[in-house]
Amino acid sequence: MDSNTIDYEALLKHAFRAKEYAYAPYSGFKVGAALITAGGRVYTGANIENASYGATCCAERTAVFSAVSCGDRKIAAIAIASDSENTIFPCGICRQVLTEFGDGEMDIVCGKRNGEYTVYKLHELIPQAFELT
Ligand SMILES: [Zn+2]
Repeated sequence: MDSNTIDYEALLKHAFRAKEYAYAPYSGFKVGAALITAGGRVYTGANIENASYGATCCAERTAVFSAVSCGDRKIAAIAIASDSENTIFPCGICRQVLTEFGDGEMDIVCGKRNGEYTVYKLHELIPQAFELT
């Protein structure tokens, strides 16, 4: 999978579907994510909040951890969906996590409630990411 073969709209639809499984009783802000691996498999995730707020996990990391825990460690693209009329972006922690399982050319499909989206490269969203060197 690369930028030429990834169906961004289909991936975003998976993200919107995943959003319905969000557990967000505290913020009320439901987020869904769907990623596609280099091998073409799709994994989804939703944000999962907790009464101990620090234990909350974002939709993007839920999707990444699902993929990695199934042995898929090479992410080609990830789409993010919410109910906001504004474009949604991954938070800083999720950007850092994404750098672990893909290169800077990973596509980040940032959606709006109405289905419009903008595609960024990971290196645009987290330039000079932390890495152990
Ligand atoms: Zn996040």
